[in-house]
Amino acid sequence: MYLTLYATEKGEVLEHPGVMMLGRSGNEWLVPEEMEMIPLPKGASLVAIPDCLPVGLGLDERVVAIEKDPYNVRKKVSPVAALLPQGFTRTLLPAFVKRDSEKNMPLFGYAAVGLKGDKIYVAAVKTDEHRKWHPVYYNTEGLPARINRMLEKFPDNRILRQLARCSLEYSCFTAQNIFYQRWEGGIPTMPSCNANCLGCISEDHAGVPSPQNRINFRPTSHEISQIAIEHLTKANDAIISFGQGCEGEPSLNAEVLAEAIKIIRSRTERGTVNINTNAGYTRGIKKMADAGLDAMRVTIFSCIEENYNRYHQPRGYTLADVKDSINYAADKGIKVSLNLLVFPGITDREEEIEALLDFVARNNVHMIQMRNLNIDPDYIMRYFPSDEAGIGMTEFINLLKYEMPGLKIGSYTHPVR
Ligand code: SF4
Repeated sequence: MYLTLYATEKGEVLEHPGVMMLGRSGNEWLVPEEMEMIPLPKGASLVAIPDCLPVGLGLDERVVAIEKDPYNVRKKVSPVAALLPQGFTRTLLPAFVKRDSEKNMPLFGYAAVGLKGDKIYVAAVKTDEHRKWHPVYYNTEGLPARINRMLEKFPDNRILRQLARCSLEYSCFTAQNIFYQRWEGGIPTMPSCNANCLGCISEDHAGVPSPQNRINFRPTSHEISQIAIEHLTKANDAIISFGQGCEGEPSLNAEVLAEAIKIIRSRTERGTVNINTNAGYTRGIKKMADAGLDAMRVTIFSCIEENYNRYHQPRGYTLADVKDSINYAADKGIKVSLNLLVFPGITDREEEIEALLDFVARNNVHMIQMRNLNIDPDYIMRYFPSDEAGIGMTEFINLLKYEMPGLKIGSYTHPVR
C-alpha cells in the first residue's frame, strides 16, 4: 500500500497519514499493483493539480476526497502528480475530483504518485533509455549565449527565431537541441493541419489554451536545409525531425520539404532525417519518401477506425490512407514507428489491443513509441465511455512484447544512420 500525497497551499508535498493512494484508469479508481509502480525517476517533476481534490482510500476502505490539510484544517489541499521525462510510460492517472466539473484541466501527462516508507513512487514503467531527455541537460545557463551565437551566424533564418522562442518560452527540448547541436533537433515548417485532434498541443480544441502557439509562416527550402545541414554535420547521434509541437501537419508542406531533403543529402550523408506526422496525406508522404526520408513516426490514438476518427477528426483522409503511407515508406526502407498516444483505461482495452496487434501485423511498423497523452481525463472519457476496464498498462506492454517479439517498444525516435 502507498500513502496518498497532497500539496499544501504553500506548495509543500506531504503524505496523508490515514488515506491510502488510489490511481485512475479510464473512469475507475484502483489500488495500484506493485508492478505498476516504480521509484520516482530522476528527471520527473512533482506538480500540484489546480482546482481539484485528492482522492484516496480511507482506513475504513471507503473512498474519500481530501478537502483540508490534516495538519491544518483551515487550509485547502491539492492533488500531487508526476510529470515524467521521456522514457517512462504512465500506468495510472492520479485520482482526484474537480472543484468545478465544467473546467478542463491543463494539457499535462499527469501520473499518479504515492509514498512508501520514505520514498515517493510513481505509476509508471520504464520503456526507453531516458538519459538524452533528462531535464538536467536542458535550460542550462549557457543556452541563451548559444542561441545568440547561432542567430548571429544565420541572421535571416526565421525558423531559428521561432526555435529561439520555443527554447526560451516553451522550454522545448528538441528546439534547444538545435542550439546545443546534439541528438534530436526539431524543425517546424507548417502552420496548418488536416486533422483536428482532441488533444492537439498546438491549437486549442478543448477550451484549454494550447501550451504553445503555432508557427505562422512557411519557411523556404533554403532556411530549412540551412539549419538541417548545420545540425546533421555537427551533432552527435544527429536527427532532424519535421513535425513539432508548434506546427500543424508537415507533410502538407511536402513540396518544400522534399526539395530541402534533396539539398541536405547533396551536402551530407550524416544523421537521420525524420518526420513526425499523421501520415494522412499520402501523396505528400510519397514525395518526401522519394526525396530521402530515413524515418517516419505516425501519431495514432486508436487503430479502430471509428475511434481513430473520433479522436483525430481527419479532414480529407482516412485510416486507409495512413496505412498506404506507412507501407509505401517501409517499402522504401524507411523506419516506421507508431507514436501511440497512450491513456490508461482506453489503450489497454481488449478491443483496442486486438486492433493494434492486427494493425501492426498487417502494416510494416517496426517500432511502437509510447506517448503519454496530455489531456483532461474527464474530457477524453466523455468521448470514449466504456464499461470495459483496461487490462492494465504493464500487462498491455508485456502482451505486445509477447505477441510481437520482433517489434521494438520505446518512447522516442532513435538514429537510423
Ligand atoms: S495532427 Fe498534430 S497539429 Fe494536427 S490537430 Fe493533430 S495534434 Fe494538432
